Amino acid sequence: MDTISGFAWTDGELDRRKVTRCALARVCGMCGETLGRPVVFVGDADEDARNSFHVPPLHDPCAQDLLAASGPGFVLVRTGGFEFVRPVRHDPDPRPRFEPNSRLAVG
Ligand SMILES: [Zn+2]
Repeated sequence: MDTISGFAWTDGELDRRKVTRCALARVCGMCGETLGRPVVFVGDADEDARNSFHVPPLHDPCAQDLLAASGPGFVLVRTGGFEFVRPVRHDPDPRPRFEPNSRLAVG
């Protein structure tokens, strides 16, 4: 995988504070600009299966760029909205994450 750079990343790693800012301010994880609809998530097969994504919501073109940089095995999911889930104490997944509400057809 190429090193990802974008608003929510610091040194190629997702930055928890910026991820939270994306969620609360509803800005794109790649470009940092205000999100519209649909919002788009990029994740691996496991995140797809659990409907739980770690990369913040993205604009469609920004998601396409991230998908291209992420390599094989990643998927793109479009949705009208999402829940922001903060990890609870002893959560098996200690990272904040995003759960798309209802998926829109990918076209
Ligand atoms: Zn963007």
